Amino acid sequence: MMLDETIPHATAPNAQQGPRSAWAALKRGLRGRCPACGEGRILRSYLTVNCSCSLCGEEFYHHRADDFPPYITIFVVGHILGALMFAVDDVWPDLPIAFHYVTWPLLCILLSLWLLPIFKGGLIAYQWALRMHGFETAHAAPAASECLDQPKAIPQQSAA
Ligand SMILES: [Zn+2]
Repeated sequence: MMLDETIPHATAPNAQQGPRSAWAALKRGLRGRCPACGEGRILRSYLTVNCSCSLCGEEFYHHRADDFPPYITIFVVGHILGALMFAVDDVWPDLPIAFHYVTWPLLCILLSLWLLPIFKGGLIAYQWALRMHGFETAHAAPAASECLDQPKAIPQQSAA
């Protein structure tokens, strides 16, 4: 797969044509931004996905993130904390046990809560870039029932 910095179809109405850069989409998604325009938000609350981008109208409800963001979060947090615990115990072997009882669970919770929405945004953007699930035919498919109550973005039209 080629990873370049360009996304030539930055506006939603023509989003079905042209290649999509997985790397650029991933970077936008990890920042919680729309993979198509890079400005709108993927998530409308902590983990709730917007049905579509509020700026360009790119549809997000096709995503199938499912359990993968928590899986990645557990994998990453586990490796970070595992390494830190061994390193801290190696450097300061005489730390009180109370330090370990408080520090590692707290760090685990905070790190997980911080990383989970980041990984979810990144995964959805990656699925969008690869045209997985319904992302290939995003504008031809009917909206999911939970998205029908949300107003769709109105494409900008010229005044003339
Ligand atoms: Zn957008």
